[in-house]
Amino acid sequence: MPTFDVIVIGSGPGGYVAAIRAAQLGLKVACADQRKVPGGTCLNVGCIPSKTLLHDTEQKASNFKAMMDRKEGVVKGFQQGVLQLFQKNKVTFLPGPAKILKATEVQIAGESFAATKGIILATGSEPTPLPFLPFDERRIVSSTGALSLDRIPGRLLVIGAGVIGVEIGSIYSRLGSRVTFVEFMDRICPTLDKGLSQELENSLKKQGMTFHLSTKVTGAQVSAEEIVLRTETSELRGDVVLVSIGRRPFSQNLGLENVGITLNKGMVPVDGQFRTVVPSIYAIGDLIDGPMLAHKASEEGVAAAEIIAGQSPIVDYMSIPSVVYTSPEVASVGLTEEELKDIPYAKGQFPMKINSRAQCTGETEGFVKILADPATDRLLGIHIIGAHASELISAAAIAIRNRLTAMNLAHTPFAHPTLSEAIKEAALAIHRRAIHK
Ligand SMILES: Cc1cc2nc3c(=O)[nH]c(=O)nc-3n(C[C@H](O)[C@H](O)[C@H](O)COP(=O)(O)OP(=O)(O)OC[C@H]3O[C@@H](n4cnc5c(N)ncnc54)[C@H](O)[C@@H]3O)c2cc1C
Repeated sequence: MPTFDVIVIGSGPGGYVAAIRAAQLGLKVACADQRKVPGGTCLNVGCIPSKTLLHDTEQKASNFKAMMDRKEGVVKGFQQGVLQLFQKNKVTFLPGPAKILKATEVQIAGESFAATKGIILATGSEPTPLPFLPFDERRIVSSTGALSLDRIPGRLLVIGAGVIGVEIGSIYSRLGSRVTFVEFMDRICPTLDKGLSQELENSLKKQGMTFHLSTKVTGAQVSAEEIVLRTETSELRGDVVLVSIGRRPFSQNLGLENVGITLNKGMVPVDGQFRTVVPSIYAIGDLIDGPMLAHKASEEGVAAAEIIAGQSPIVDYMSIPSVVYTSPEVASVGLTEEELKDIPYAKGQFPMKINSRAQCTGETEGFVKILADPATDRLLGIHIIGAHASELISAAAIAIRNRLTAMNLAHTPFAHPTLSEAIKEAALAIHRRAIHK
């Protein structure tokens, strides 16, 4: 039987990164994916295609077909890129569905392979369907179908105004679709700090998107002409419906039952070392608990590989940033005001409209909010809404990761004129020392 030290199942940002890291550490590694191409959800139907379309629509690209073709090209380019990285690091890519047979044995595309040091499960997640509105990926679409439509819908209904919903809704709104959201919660992107979620909602409304919040879709009628969604109070009509009510871990046909791994709320339970109940089998990424983010999966992939190689890495969950790539962008790291509601905290806020660079470029929407421990001044959360927030948040993540204080941040020289200066000013504002406010 072909034998490897480590077999990784799934080649998304969790799996392929784990495979490369394990190979860097001198292990003989194989990585399997049923998709036949590497990259997982993130590269093929997630982060990369959505950000390519968000970019092109923000640049007001008018040729829909050319835009979709460019997106395909970007994805294909990165698929080749991951394959080249595998080759460079001597990782064997095995296309085909994989199934665990025993604690140290995996079947891939019908053939058995042994893994002497460990198996890493990185099979990711899939869109959650609505029972009464199954995906056909043409008119009733998940994010996957929505990123590959062959025409711009006149009316797009989006069920679920979470991150994926508002990003894809923004793409089609910019292309001219009339976009209407139905959201069960009382605000959009409910995991964001409330102040930022409200600011984003106001901005998206100004761009022409419509929101029905605290509203539940109770049924649907699909005819050849249109789709009618029923809510408790109204009926909404559309040409295409995007169902973006969340994603669920994907572990179908993985053979978990062969080794006695049972799911907890659909997720594979692991200990602090990413080990399942079977000591030789690890799990990472969307398949386990925590935010469903590509970089979280990658951090866990690196850690799992290092643990198998005998090292003791840590993943610092507090400093994992999250981003909504709308216009304006929203980016956060650390705790929100809602999460801190039972603990004292100090707050400093600085509006982008009085930041000099924002004035230079005319991108004056948004603000920076910083939360800190009033006793120690230690940074607890940094939340940014505004242009380029996705880039600005990395400095904030470094600050949180290194347990800096608001004054550490405030005493750091920031180049002028830059949007980053709003971070420094918000840190100063915690101590009522903001210069430009
Ligand atoms: C539209 C959209 C936009 C997103 N945008 C962002 C973003 O901007 N930033 C961000 O951080 N995150 C984003 N995400 C989330 C991100 O894509 C996921 O968090 C990330 O891909 C999870 O990585 P993973 O390695 O755990 O799993 P995945 O990327 O899901 O990869 C799992 C792979 O395993 C394969 N697989 C499953 N079962 C088997 C099996 N039995 N045998 C072999 N192979 C198998 C699957 O085919 C898949 O290729 C987005 C998601 C979507 C849907």
